[in-house]
Amino acid sequence: MALKLFNTLSRSIQEFTPLDSAGKKVGMYCCGPTVYDFAHIGNWRTFVFADLVRRYLEFKGYAVTHVMNITDVEDKIIKRVRETKTSLREFTGKYETAFFADLKTLNCLEPHQTPRATGYIAEIIALIEKLVARGIAYQAADGSVYFSIEKYQGCGCTYGRLLKLNFDELRPGERTRSDEYAKESVTDFALWKARAPEDGDVCWPSPWGEGRPGWHIECSAMSMKVLGESFDLHLGGEDLKFPHHEDEIAQSEGATGKPFAKYWLHGAFLLVEGKKMSKSLGNFFMLRDLLAKGFTGREIRHLLLTAHYRETFNFTLEGLQGARAALARIDECISKLRDISSSTSTGSAGFQPAGSQPKENPAAGRMPALPAALQPFSDSLDEDLNISAGWGAVFEWIRELNRRMAESSLSTTDAAAALAAWNKIDSVLGIGTPADAEAPAEIVALLAARQAARQAKDFKKSDAIRDGLKAKGWTIEDTTQGSKLKKI
Ligand code: AMP
Ligand code: ZN
Repeated sequence: MALKLFNTLSRSIQEFTPLDSAGKKVGMYCCGPTVYDFAHIGNWRTFVFADLVRRYLEFKGYAVTHVMNITDVEDKIIKRVRETKTSLREFTGKYETAFFADLKTLNCLEPHQTPRATGYIAEIIALIEKLVARGIAYQAADGSVYFSIEKYQGCGCTYGRLLKLNFDELRPGERTRSDEYAKESVTDFALWKARAPEDGDVCWPSPWGEGRPGWHIECSAMSMKVLGESFDLHLGGEDLKFPHHEDEIAQSEGATGKPFAKYWLHGAFLLVEGKKMSKSLGNFFMLRDLLAKGFTGREIRHLLLTAHYRETFNFTLEGLQGARAALARIDECISKLRDISSSTSTGSAGFQPAGSQPKENPAAGRMPALPAALQPFSDSLDEDLNISAGWGAVFEWIRELNRRMAESSLSTTDAAAALAAWNKIDSVLGIGTPADAEAPAEIVALLAARQAARQAKDFKKSDAIRDGLKAKGWTIEDTTQGSKLKKI
């Protein structure tokens, strides 16, 4: 089945067909973090969504180039640099490092390229020069260079492609220097901001004097430099539709005369406990706040991936408890499948009571990459990445596997095929399975001591060690393959 996606540009669901004539290569750009603080859980919903898009495209066989920029110079950053009396690089470097650490914690695949805006000043200037040469940009009396909406529209281009704009109030030549503004105040916007005293020493030379780029032109310059003037997918949170993405389209298409991104995907906002995140409401979570509460990256990732990306999602701590329970169900099933698949027909008595050897399924060894039982997962994701239906398919499959394991009708080959299928599914979900090796060394040492005590028939000692492990949050499961640690 073909992948269909909701394209904000056409405001409709469209079949995804890459620009690449061979239908193989896909270029995907996601607006990255503004590194002026640690990324919050709302930001992470959007980045995990981008990770899902990339993983699913790869699952479908596309060769994806995933680009995510680092916005390391814009209004909010400069304000904080001034307040903290640090250098730009020192300030942004701290949050950039934290961002990549969090990305790992959430098991997001690292984008292939992560350009920093400050590394692309020459490309930004060249792009503005093109717009000036085409008469779409102009230098104003304040020294800054602005994008003229009137001139752009005069070239037959439409401003307001991603959302409807009201031009009744638009007064030609009215300008805004700020990176962020509401759609009620559509005006010419800054491409290059002439150096102001409050910018400190954050400035670069340019044909228009010292200054710094506007936020919107940064993404146009970086995406086109890395992916080409036209590319397949552009992603971001829904708040970026205006002005950021609208301005990106205008700048890019105004300069090249070519279509910019073919598909625009926007993730809906995350609310916390039903409300907009705010520090005063106490519902403002950075990833580290949730880790400090004892939740793991995979639990948080699972929760962020439960709802359809175009639906507002309500994040709650109870939801995280639910994610823990859901993962435990998956882990338990996978662990049993591993036991069966690694057992010989005589060694799997735990699941195959004597006298009930399961019949080998001759077809299982030749199973296609995606078994029929998992087709519903792929069918769901093909429908505009309907992940909630995808999870439904996964849990239905787990229910069926559990039923078959309970009645001992799952052969070692079936189990191995199911594990292979899970690996394929998990290449999309990215939740992994906790391995025994994840237990800290101290816990593994206690397990070894308990085994030694059992071998020595010192059951009092072995029970005491087991109780000690329980107090530390670990249980021991004695299986036919030996004793295994499991997190409570
Ligand atoms: P920023 O670092 O502010 O540039 O934001 C990075 C990404 O997070 C952007 O794509 C935003 O649209 C997105 N974002 C910000 N707040 C939220 C939220 N509450 N829910 C989902 N995405 C968000
Ligand atoms: Zn951007």
